[in-house]
Formats: sequence, C-alpha cells, structure tokens
Amino acid sequence: MFARGEEDYLAELVERYNAKLVIVDPLQNHLKGASIHRDESVRNVLKPYLALMKRMKFSIVLQVHVLRDIAKNAHPHRAIPAGVISWAQAVFLLGEDPRIGADPNLRILADCDKFNLGPRPPSILFEIETQRVPVLTADGSWVQREFPVLRERGEVKVSAKALLVKMRPEDRERKSDRVAYELIELLRHGPLPVGSIRTHILALDPPTTWRTAERVAEELGIIKTQDERDARRLIWALPEYIVGELEEAGDDGVEITEVEIEPPDDFIPRTGMTALKPPDLIEPFVGWKGLLADRSGRLFSPRWRVEWPAGEPLIADCELEAKHLPPHPSCTCGVYAVNSFETLKLNGYNWSDHDEDEQWLIVEVSLWGEVRKGQVGVRASKAYPRRVFAPAYLFAVGDAVRQRYGIPLAFIDRFRGRRIA
Ligand SMILES: [Zn+2]
Repeated sequence: MFARGEEDYLAELVERYNAKLVIVDPLQNHLKGASIHRDESVRNVLKPYLALMKRMKFSIVLQVHVLRDIAKNAHPHRAIPAGVISWAQAVFLLGEDPRIGADPNLRILADCDKFNLGPRPPSILFEIETQRVPVLTADGSWVQREFPVLRERGEVKVSAKALLVKMRPEDRERKSDRVAYELIELLRHGPLPVGSIRTHILALDPPTTWRTAERVAEELGIIKTQDERDARRLIWALPEYIVGELEEAGDDGVEITEVEIEPPDDFIPRTGMTALKPPDLIEPFVGWKGLLADRSGRLFSPRWRVEWPAGEPLIADCELEAKHLPPHPSCTCGVYAVNSFETLKLNGYNWSDHDEDEQWLIVEVSLWGEVRKGQVGVRASKAYPRRVFAPAYLFAVGDAVRQRYGIPLAFIDRFRGRRIA
C-alpha cells in the first residue's frame, strides 16, 4: 500500500468508503520500495500520506511487530522506524452503537485489534446525556446551561470492526424508495408521457435503470394508458389511492392531528439530573424513530422487540433490571427518539435485514412522563406514535398502521429522508 506516488489509490478508497480509520497490519508487508530498517526510506514513503490524512480527515494505524525478541528489544521505541510519527500499545475506537434500532445517544468504546498490555478488554457502552449546570455569565448572574456528559452503561458485545462497518451500497430496497419518490414527484401534478419520465429517471444520480423504474411502477400500481393523439405513446398516471393521499395532505403538508392521549397526573418530566416541575414541560416531546411494522399494522421497537399498543401509550419497561422505573439514570431503558428527522438520518437509522412480512417505517412519536434528555434526543417513560411515513409502494403497510393507531400517513424515501406531503 505504501509506495511513492501511490497515495491516490488510498485516497480513492478512503473517499469511496468514507473511511475514518485505516489499519495496516503489519507495516512490513505494505511497504513497497522501502526497508523497515531504514528510517530515511520509511520517512520518505510515509510523508505524502501524512498530508493526505490531514486533508481527508482520517487516521492510519500501523501495526509493527517489534517484540518477538523481548530481550533484544526491551524498549520497543528503538525498533520502530523514525518515519512513524507516534506509537501506541493499545488503540481504541469510540463510535456510535451500530446495532439495529440502537439509541443514537449511545457510544461504544472498543479495543481496536491492538492491545499489548494484557488480555483484550471488553467493549464498553456509554450514553451521552445532557446535564444542567449553573454557569456564571459576564454580568455576574447565574444561568442554567446544558452540557453533554458520557455515562458508562456496562459491557457490550460489539467489536471495533462492527463500529467501522456502517456503510452499505445501494440495494434493491434503497433503489425502490428513491425511484418511488421520483415517480410520485413527477406525476403528482398530472399524468405524463412515458418518454419524459424515462429521460428523468435515466438522468438520476446514482444511476438507475429503466427496468427498476418499471418494476417500481408496477409495485406502485401506476396506471398506463395510450395517448389519445398518438396510440404508440404511453401515458403514466398515479393510482387513485396515492392521489387521494396527496390531496388530503394539501399544499401545506400533512395536517397533524393531536393524539387524544392525556398526559397522566403523575407527569413529572426530568432533564439530566435536574427534576423540572410542571408547567416547565407540559407539551410532550416530539421525536423521530425507525420502527418495524407487520402486515396488520402493528408497530415494534426493533431492539427489544416491544409491540406498541394502539389507543393507549407505550409504557417503558426495563428489560435488564426490573427493579427500577425507566428511564433510569444508570441504565439505557426507556423509549428513545431523536429530535429531528435529519438527526435520525445522520445517525444511520439502520435498515438492516428484517423478516419478509415486516417493513421499516419512519414514525414521528410523542414522548412524555419521565423524560431524560440526551445529546440528540430523549429517553422517556411513555410514548405514542404521532404520524407514520412509508414509501408509497408500501402503502398497504402504512395504511394498516394509520388505521390501527389513528394517525396520519405520509410518503417518504426512507433512506434519503425526502418526504412528500
Ligand atoms: Zn433499566
């Protein structure tokens, strides 16, 4: 990998995978035209890579085997070529919890395949929580400010490799969402000749085949008719159920109907360590989640496989420790949701594998009761869905959710986050 004039190759890989960390194991095997025993040659080869790391904001960890003969190399520093600018006995990675449906406030610290000081340590789970701290301002008065704090939540079986692998290429499902969105955007103001639709679809980036568009059109139930003026020309139009849905939404977007669930009398919201008394926080927190839906419209939290009841709030339960009430300060229990759709997207709401009779949907939720505030959202003791978003070709599932929970439905490209209505 390391050879003079070949840093473009690494740059291309880093860009393609959006890599943050490159592990070279061992360095000896990847040095082309330089000897590990000659400091000057190692330094010359690595120099352009230092500039590359700075420019593209990633790190390189070089593994060098130096302690085969401990007596000879009592001081490992002596065995590392001077072209290597720093050395470590252990490397850790701190990253977002990559597990499906994980709370985006969670971080995992994992030993990164390099630990010379003893047995490999387990990965540790942390939660970023918001704490209110009194701060002295310039004019001498005290104000409450919120600061994030990392709280340890115990060991977890997630490796450093799992932290790094969050990217995946566009699969059939992603493509379907994207193309379904494009077709609805194109046809929402009326039918169009197939030629102009084709031109638009073939110009998309990343590229999509016309075959994909035809398949998605089939799944959406697009109506195909012949042009009255020219029988050879086909016209595509949206099916009635989608048109009806868009009309109901109107030009200003979906009418949000408040769910008729009253916050109970014991409503004591909390943030961080500080208990707030009502009426500091009367409005429920509105957040976003990715939930699984089955064909009958039942919603499930993916991580613990909890079903959301219809017509009554979901009341959080602790799966780990039944003796406390969620959201407990020293646990990760409670229903969590992030504060905006963009945050959900940035935190890689994870569309991993799921059963064939279940679909991932985006759900806007209300949270109340005991509320603990994290960096990008909250954990709460009670929750109810507020609005459901499904790609149009999964209308049947979205519609079942709408009916079951009595909430509005809107269309979405779940992977890019573009919403219609
Ligand atoms: Zn708990």
